[in-house]
Amino acid sequence: MKVRKLVLTATPVLIVLGALTAVLAWSRTAPVFSGTVAITFTERGLDRPDKKISVTDAREVQRILGTIHLKRKDSCQCSHLHEVTFLKPAGQIEVSICEHCFAVLGAKKNGWYPHVRDYWMPTQFYSEFRKLALSRTNEHWHVQP
Ligand SMILES: [Zn+2]
Ligand SMILES: [Zn+2]
Repeated sequence: MKVRKLVLTATPVLIVLGALTAVLAWSRTAPVFSGTVAITFTERGLDRPDKKISVTDAREVQRILGTIHLKRKDSCQCSHLHEVTFLKPAGQIEVSICEHCFAVLGAKKNGWYPHVRDYWMPTQFYSEFRKLALSRTNEHWHVQP
């Protein structure tokens, strides 16, 4: 009887501890991009339709993933025109980008985005994006040539 009561009181505490541990682990570990089957770059248009470039070729996706080396940075309040979606079978990772930010929004779960984690934009990744954007010569993406 005593043991049972102890278990019942301990359960909510364990649940809270478990959630806390998950949150802490999540904020410490870098996002996992492996398993990505498609990378989509989007330019948000305020008064025009969004522009999109999708990379679905498996080798091309792997090559681009290979350019992502992340280092944490503090958030800077700059506004971003571009987003990158990493599509994985289990969901997707949304990243908001500019020339110096790589802000991970995390996988959307039940309509909820986990906190943004800010990283420095990996130079090579941005130049891959710029190359793709500039190759769409008649779409006029907002990237520096
Ligand atoms: Zn900034
Ligand atoms: Zn930025």
